[in-house]
Amino acid sequence: MTVIYCDVCTLPVEFCEFGKTLKKCKVWLEENDPETFQKLYNTDDQIKSSLSSEREAQISSSLAKMQLKEERKQERELENLKNSKILIKRIPRTKHKHICAIVNLEVLGPDTDLKKMAKFFASKFATGASVSKNAEKKDEIVIQGDVANEVEEYLNNLLAEKGLELKIEHVTERFTNKKK
Ligand SMILES: [Zn+2]
Repeated sequence: MTVIYCDVCTLPVEFCEFGKTLKKCKVWLEENDPETFQKLYNTDDQIKSSLSSEREAQISSSLAKMQLKEERKQERELENLKNSKILIKRIPRTKHKHICAIVNLEVLGPDTDLKKMAKFFASKFATGASVSKNAEKKDEIVIQGDVANEVEEYLNNLLAEKGLELKIEHVTERFTNKKK
């Protein structure tokens, strides 16, 4: 068996890794004796496997982070849902006229169609009802008329139907002459 001496570090190629020029040695050996190079370093497999396991670790750690994030998000949403309540605001328009704004109806679930509900209220109370955005940019149903109690009754039934334990809060705003 012939000993191959490395042109870079002058050691037998098996000892290149103990020298300080391994990188250069490998380049030289690969160029001059690919077969021995393959035997010694078996580079392809090594690089591939080390790369893929590194990548795998990366992926699994970012996956774990994502999963954790998603879990926390769901927990938060659940917590929010528990704390959330439907707000029925009784808002005076004049001394004797009120309108009702129902806020936070999204807690009823994603299948809640506010427009449909507004239409339902309109025909139920024979008055105007529409969906509009409030100051917090949230959708609310505004009903013309002093129907807060009736709305609450309806919503309580709906909550019972859906098996949701949500609070409904009543707020009566004071009459001011300021225009909103
Ligand atoms: Zn060498």
